[in-house]
Amino acid sequence: MTTLQDIQTFEGKYPKQLWYLFLVEMWERFCFYGMRGVLTIFMADKILGLSFSDREANLKYGAIQAFVYAFTFLGGIFADKILGYKKSLTFGAIIMILGNILIAISPQELFFLGISLSIIGTGFFKPNISSMVGDLYKEGDSRRDAGFGLFYSGINIGALLGGAVCVYLGTSKDFGWSYSFLSAAVVMIIGLVTFLFIKKSLGPIGDSPMLNLEPKKRIFNEIAVYIGALLSIPLIFTMIKNTDYTDYFMYSVGPLAIVYFIFETTKAKETAVRQKLIAALIFIIFSIIFWAFFEQSGGSLALFAQNNLCDSLLFFHINPNIVNNTANSLFVIVFSPILGLIWLALAKRNLEPNTVIKFGLGFLFLAAAFWVFYYTRFFADAKGITSLNIFTLAYLIITFGELCLSPIGLSIITKLSPKNLGGMMMGMWFLASAYGQYVAGLLGAGMSSPDESASIITKLQGYTDGYYQLAVYALIAGIILIGIYSLIRKLMQEVK
Ligand code: GLN
Repeated sequence: MTTLQDIQTFEGKYPKQLWYLFLVEMWERFCFYGMRGVLTIFMADKILGLSFSDREANLKYGAIQAFVYAFTFLGGIFADKILGYKKSLTFGAIIMILGNILIAISPQELFFLGISLSIIGTGFFKPNISSMVGDLYKEGDSRRDAGFGLFYSGINIGALLGGAVCVYLGTSKDFGWSYSFLSAAVVMIIGLVTFLFIKKSLGPIGDSPMLNLEPKKRIFNEIAVYIGALLSIPLIFTMIKNTDYTDYFMYSVGPLAIVYFIFETTKAKETAVRQKLIAALIFIIFSIIFWAFFEQSGGSLALFAQNNLCDSLLFFHINPNIVNNTANSLFVIVFSPILGLIWLALAKRNLEPNTVIKFGLGFLFLAAAFWVFYYTRFFADAKGITSLNIFTLAYLIITFGELCLSPIGLSIITKLSPKNLGGMMMGMWFLASAYGQYVAGLLGAGMSSPDESASIITKLQGYTDGYYQLAVYALIAGIILIGIYSLIRKLMQEVK
């Protein structure tokens, strides 16, 4: 039987279990990003899809995205209190598979039911796999950030493959939407089977927190969670069908999460534990701002790519939308392990920047990237068509920002959370992404010209003005973060 000690005293750069979790998460992200890639086009497809107007399809897309991330908070809590990470992950994967199979059977009729299942499934899956990665490391092990960096490459390989395969199958004349959703179900089955195979190697990591209870009682609680999750399907179904409810949901879930956070924090006996939780909350709040800007990629930057970019990249021609959809994942896959190794090399020389600095750097890169998006206006021709090269350069810079914040954020949440709240805190980290997505939509709508038939040059001005402002706000956020450096460091105690 593998013990925690066996796992955490690994030699080399990465524990072997990290590679296993990497593979499982890769398939889950294939499924998630594949679904995300086809959502809007499927809903707006007038013949084989749901025939929604573009506006309605976009609103529903935003709602579904927000719900997916919001449910990670509940998934995290149930994993902490009742299921443990392993069971939670298995349950989530099964529900995601069922959701995709349902849609594949009849995309037009079963879409909303299937997507409700995907929302619940991802909620039980997503936060808990990241928490398990954190458990592979001992407190204070300086290899943790690099491990999350590698894990993050797995996320993006899945994202890239899923986006490409599902969009290809869905939009191809020879296949169609059913195949697209079926492929997501198939890879998720691969992910689940992989997890069931490697589960043993995780030893006690992710076991039920109720192992000390009588089996009967424990099983009763577990079944209650499963049934409760299934019973919530009609509720989610109704809320995504009517987009107005999304607003109410977003207004209430965040405050409720904060109230619950305060409840759990005040319950913690040691001051040090409480302070670490508050530090985690500060990182989570900053991440909302980061994602709200970053997620322009799915909204305003996609429209900008469609309207205002030429199609020549370095020495070849390419559809700017493909660049918009893939550049970030490709850059992450290449640079995430490299940055991880740089962190390790710096740690060896005692020069590794701590998390506050890394977050601050994340915002500075974000600001620089939006400044470059703004700067594209100076490369425009008379019609308002500008350089794809400069646009791609901005994506390279924003990716470095993401790498300083997103994998590092996962890592710091696992460092700052006490054992019994790991899932909930990871859920809160992703809940921040839900708000980021939500605010991103609002920002994007604010930037777009009210007149859809405006000239290309007016659109260029509208978007680049917006990007300039985002650059300024990102810079201010970075400065504030670095300004409260010593406060956060104090709250973090010994954690770096
Ligand atoms: N791209 C990353 C993932 O899919 C981060 C997503 C997020 O937190 N917004 O896990």
